[in-house]
Amino acid sequence: MEPEFTEIMATSRDWDELLWAWVAWRNATGPFMKDKYTEATSLMNQAALDNNYDNLGSAWRYANYEMDQDLIDMVDDLYDDVKPLYEQIHAYVRGKLIEAYPDHDIDPEGPIPAHILGNMWAQEWNNILDIVLPYPDSASYDVTEAMQNQGYTVEKLFRLSESFFASLGMDNMTDTFWEKSMMTKPDGRNVECHGSASDMASADCSDFRIKMCTQITQDYLQTVHHEMGHIQYFMQYCHQPFVFQSGANAAFHEAIGDTIALSVMSPEHLKTIGLIEEQGAGSDDEQQKKTLNFLMKAALEKVAFLPFGYLIDKWRWDVFSGEITPEEYNTKWWQYRIKYQGVAPPVRRSDDDFDPGSKYHVPANVPYIRYFLSFIGQFQFHESLCSAAGHKGPLHACDIYRSKDAGRLLMSVLSRGSSRPWKETMQVMTGGKQFSADAIKEYFAPLTKWIQKQNKHSKIGW
Ligand SMILES: [Zn+2]
Repeated sequence: MEPEFTEIMATSRDWDELLWAWVAWRNATGPFMKDKYTEATSLMNQAALDNNYDNLGSAWRYANYEMDQDLIDMVDDLYDDVKPLYEQIHAYVRGKLIEAYPDHDIDPEGPIPAHILGNMWAQEWNNILDIVLPYPDSASYDVTEAMQNQGYTVEKLFRLSESFFASLGMDNMTDTFWEKSMMTKPDGRNVECHGSASDMASADCSDFRIKMCTQITQDYLQTVHHEMGHIQYFMQYCHQPFVFQSGANAAFHEAIGDTIALSVMSPEHLKTIGLIEEQGAGSDDEQQKKTLNFLMKAALEKVAFLPFGYLIDKWRWDVFSGEITPEEYNTKWWQYRIKYQGVAPPVRRSDDDFDPGSKYHVPANVPYIRYFLSFIGQFQFHESLCSAAGHKGPLHACDIYRSKDAGRLLMSVLSRGSSRPWKETMQVMTGGKQFSADAIKEYFAPLTKWIQKQNKHSKIGW
């Protein structure tokens, strides 16, 4: 997967090659684990029952949020709230893909074939920015090429991230971090490349590590910030009693690095670190075009992800409750993919296939709703930190770099760990006790307005 198939899915524009990689990865994963997954589900459910939960889904919801049915209701409401925004992006991208692949009869009113969105699971679409960029003659804000041309090394990506956190008054990574992390894929042995951050629970708070197979691309730059956000969280709550050494809830932990990356990837900050060229302000019209390009790129990462982040655990919760039986694992998987995401399999799938198994978090048994909540919460966090930093102007233009006030607010939240109920910590961070889609909607408001005009004659939905 990393780097070969990741790169093919991101960069190939050859329908058949993409299809080959898409099918090959699924053939090489799902069928081998379907029976084991079925058995593991039954065993884990039994363990949940023995601990007085209804099933594993309920145990997960309680362990991570101290909620159960109310968590399901909460994410359903949030999904309904962001769905109109997603549908607009979906309709626009579908139109552009029809132009890009004229020989393949993509249905202008149907779901999008899942293999042409730039990612193995169609979970983030920023790798097809070239196909959907609103104004191809203006800046695209894709910095992969700039990073490669400037000779960026893997260490430089990590140092860049470290220095952003430090600019807020937070700690540098420890010596052990630099010695013991695995930042690139080693030669001569197989490793699990999926990016992760680990708290090694050393008594003197010195041993935290990242493992990832970093390449010099914008996606990996985001991932470095994501993983380092986990490390910052570990370091900030390290003084807490052991039981409180975790995030306010699981979504908080996922959101920290991404929140920082919202500043890092802002046009202002990319200029500051020399990854995009300092252009004159340009006319208002040119400025407007650049803003729309920037927001489109961000929407392909952040808005496109939302239904994917939502449906993985919708499916698993239903698997664990017995609502979905092993015979219909794959059929239901695709029903959810079509219903929520509006993407369809490019070739016929059957119940001998096990396509959920192609996504790391399913066999690794990592709960996923945390990512959905993180993608909504990180915009709330960004908004609060920006206001602490005294930012004026549109939310998407904010960069909290060097703001000690923003850093103090962030540290006050992280250092609590899970010692207080998450809604209380949410209130410290944002002033309100709930997740809310208002901030993400505000961030993308200028794009939404523009895209609705572009979609005037298109069907919205599928
Ligand atoms: Zn993470």
